[in-house]
Amino acid sequence: MSDIMDLCERSPAYVRAIAPYLPGKPITEVARELGLDERSIVKLASNENPRGLSPKAQAAIVAALPDLARYPDGFELLQALSHRLGVPAQQIVLGNGSNDLLELAGMAFLAPGTSAVYSQHAFAVYPLATQARGAASIVVPAKHFGHDLDGFLAAIRPDTRVVFIANPNNPTGTMLGAAELEAFLSRAPKDVAVVLDEAYNEYLAPELRCPSIDWVARFPNLIVTRTFSKIYGLAGLRIGYGVCHASVAALINRVRQPFNVNNLAIAAAVAALTDQAFVRESYELNCAGMAQLTDACKRLGLAWIPSYGNFLTIKIPPDRGENAGQSQAGAVFQKLLRLGVIVRPLSNYAMPDHLRVTIGLARENARFLEALEAVLKG
Ligand SMILES: *Cc1c(COP(=O)(O)O)cnc(C)c1O
Repeated sequence: MSDIMDLCERSPAYVRAIAPYLPGKPITEVARELGLDERSIVKLASNENPRGLSPKAQAAIVAALPDLARYPDGFELLQALSHRLGVPAQQIVLGNGSNDLLELAGMAFLAPGTSAVYSQHAFAVYPLATQARGAASIVVPAKHFGHDLDGFLAAIRPDTRVVFIANPNNPTGTMLGAAELEAFLSRAPKDVAVVLDEAYNEYLAPELRCPSIDWVARFPNLIVTRTFSKIYGLAGLRIGYGVCHASVAALINRVRQPFNVNNLAIAAAVAALTDQAFVRESYELNCAGMAQLTDACKRLGLAWIPSYGNFLTIKIPPDRGENAGQSQAGAVFQKLLRLGVIVRPLSNYAMPDHLRVTIGLARENARFLEALEAVLKG
């Protein structure tokens, strides 16, 4: 007992202070805990693609199985991305999910005595990547649940090494316009790395997408991160990438595990890139599902944060019964679980009155809405 205490106390205080990441509840766990049939459960908690993955990606995974005894080689995927994005492969870094890139940016630039700037209600991995390096977190208050970039500029200190921006942001779904972001990049100090997390980029209407990859040539401190976890439907394989200046990529490659991305993920990602019809259909399904959910919120008199991602964050009205005025989002989350619908509570994002729901298939959205209405009226 005391030996293990001694050991754990040797861990840096900043590591011991990390609050563990809370993932969306897995279907298997909810089924076990509540005695429900797994097939009856609808999971709208982790912004996964409800259509699954492209059949082409699936076939590529099967075809890659016989080669699993070999260590992975990212060359083919780097070439495919280089071709698609119009940047040299030396400017692309592959990650075990784009999460990996966020951590790697932290490893490359943060240490005790430095700081990182990010927004209130921003993606939970930014505080994790910052704290794990012993760096200080500077949290800029959100503006209408979105990022306040003037606030970011004012918050940057001489010891700031990294700024994290999520566009669109999770869990709020808010978006920054290209002009606003470009103005920020022009004004931000050139010796501060700006990590622009575009996990939901492909869910934006084409006219709303930023020329972020082109910006890398003008702003050598910019690191754009993207993922195959969301619209490409490969969350379980863990694959994402970053685009940055070749010198920054070389720096990140020093702290990156040599084989951080696996064979199946590489094969699936290469194939997924060739199936842009799948991406387009997923985008269209998301638009329809977003309308389905917001129309229903209107009908139910619920407020929501306008979202540019594949999820919607809904405000649950306070209790009017015996706990009048108190948040009932936690109770609504639990009651939805019992009805077999998993959504995401947001108290760990300092949004205790909101629930985040991923846009699912039309019938999954309908199941959620039916359950939500029953819970709110019941
Ligand atoms: C889902 C998400 C990611 C992507 O995570 P992966 O590691 O690529 O699965 C990154 N940033 C934000 C804001 C996200 O919501």
